[in-house]
Amino acid sequence: MSGLEDLYKEIILDHYRSPRNQGELEEPAHRCEGFNPLCGDEVVVYLSLDGGTIDIKIGGRGCSISMASASMMSEIVKGKSIEEAKQITQAFKEMMDIYESELSGNTEIESVSSDVDLGDLEALQGVVKYPVRIKCATLAWNTLTQSIDEIQDQTH
Ligand code: ZN
Repeated sequence: MSGLEDLYKEIILDHYRSPRNQGELEEPAHRCEGFNPLCGDEVVVYLSLDGGTIDIKIGGRGCSISMASASMMSEIVKGKSIEEAKQITQAFKEMMDIYESELSGNTEIESVSSDVDLGDLEALQGVVKYPVRIKCATLAWNTLTQSIDEIQDQTH
């Protein structure tokens, strides 16, 4: 078990040290900021849609979990459609919800069957040890969701 935990830590540290898709996108890309006051994490998501596929850049600063989660998120949603990004976001949030219940000692949870492959994101489960850190892990995803909502409001 500790071998797996070491692997998870490696994955998180790798994303934290060399974040993917870091930087800014020029206007008219959509810019959206997220803040987690519990930990002081800030994530800025730049999103643009080119022919229906997502281009994304990540800015901001925060703890290793929030930054690694943002990096992994950018990697997995880049080049996807909005619909696919929403499905991935939902699968990730369900995974973390179930995990939060487990951490709080609730064993009566239904597992969700999801055919979305979350890849490295599953490593977040291995390093998040306290419910409060789940806010760090989900910050980038909430910011992505807000960004998508705002873009869709503009175009309707
Ligand atoms: Zn944090």
